[in-house]
Amino acid sequence: MTERIFNFSAGPAVLPVPVLEKAREEMLSLPGVGMSVMEISHRSKTFDAIHQSAKAGLKELLGIPDGYHVLFLQGGASLQFSMVPLNFLRDGGSSDYVLTGSWGKKAVKEAKKHGAVSVAADMADSRYNRVPAQDELKLDPAAAYVHITSNETIEGVEWKEDPQTGDVPLVCDASSDICSRPVDVSKYALIYAGAQKNLGPSGVTVVILRDDLLQKIPDGLDTMLDYRTHAQADSLYNTPNTWGIYILDLVCKWMREQGGLDAIHRRNEEKARKIYEAIDATAFYRGHAAREARSNMNITFRLPSEELEKKFAAEATGQRLDGLKGHRSVGGIRASIYNAFPVEGVDALVQFMREFERANG
Ligand SMILES: *Cc1c(COP(=O)(O)O)cnc(C)c1O
Repeated sequence: MTERIFNFSAGPAVLPVPVLEKAREEMLSLPGVGMSVMEISHRSKTFDAIHQSAKAGLKELLGIPDGYHVLFLQGGASLQFSMVPLNFLRDGGSSDYVLTGSWGKKAVKEAKKHGAVSVAADMADSRYNRVPAQDELKLDPAAAYVHITSNETIEGVEWKEDPQTGDVPLVCDASSDICSRPVDVSKYALIYAGAQKNLGPSGVTVVILRDDLLQKIPDGLDTMLDYRTHAQADSLYNTPNTWGIYILDLVCKWMREQGGLDAIHRRNEEKARKIYEAIDATAFYRGHAAREARSNMNITFRLPSEELEKKFAAEATGQRLDGLKGHRSVGGIRASIYNAFPVEGVDALVQFMREFERANG
């Protein structure tokens, strides 16, 4: 097969075609180098240029102010579930977690191994279909940090406004919506994201960390689990995922060519709107997320029965619309439409939804 299909996978996910083409072009030899990026030292001048460019790309796109480190770590967002409490939840301290879905629950599970966790809000009662309003948050002004998940990938629920946490550092798992829209980084103490949804391949995790947090880290942590190690070594304490950083750099350049995050956000809103309109147009499809918390990245909906959902996903795959089956934990259908997902694929899905209802409704 040489023709690409429409890839609705939640992650690893679709990458921009120009990025893949560029990587193919440079696979055997980076210009003037005679080797691929995977074959050169992570301490070489060539890789240093790629690494610094990737950092600068993220800084420019997200408007990351001075006073933040941009780190490229490994272990996925899942390791950050542990590293955040390990580094910042010191003896006697407490943390506040806001639960808006499945990933936040996983983050809590790890945090509890390191210290006191208070759930500042849990949207379980509404089946994780919305985010809490500011006045629903039970925040402890003495907490070490507040943790949120900006976009719950499995439920398809996204924060539209940053919560107010006063002087308490705000930590965000932004794995599935980083760089999908502009963000005021200065409101956050730490943002982390596995790259494989919006930024590149799996195996590289972006951590954007405010410098003053480094002072709060207790001594004696395992070297690789201590943020100071990676901040001091500029992510080169050990061998980073050089290939992942290279692709991430190409994705940043592609995002800049798309007009930056304002333009990308507009396109994402437009793509998501088309699918939500198709859902709202009929009672055959039922969206999971409450309107005001609908994700622009992961669109979750149900059909009248599980049999129909299975049929829907299978027939869609037959029509080159792949990866629409919902997460095994919640079922239903999930259309993940990250930055690189083309609008033509959205139109094809909307068309398919109409036809499927006509034949099965
Ligand atoms: C995918 C995802 C994760 C897990 O990421 P890994 O890199 O596989 O550890 C965590 N949080 C969110 C919000 C995700 O979408």
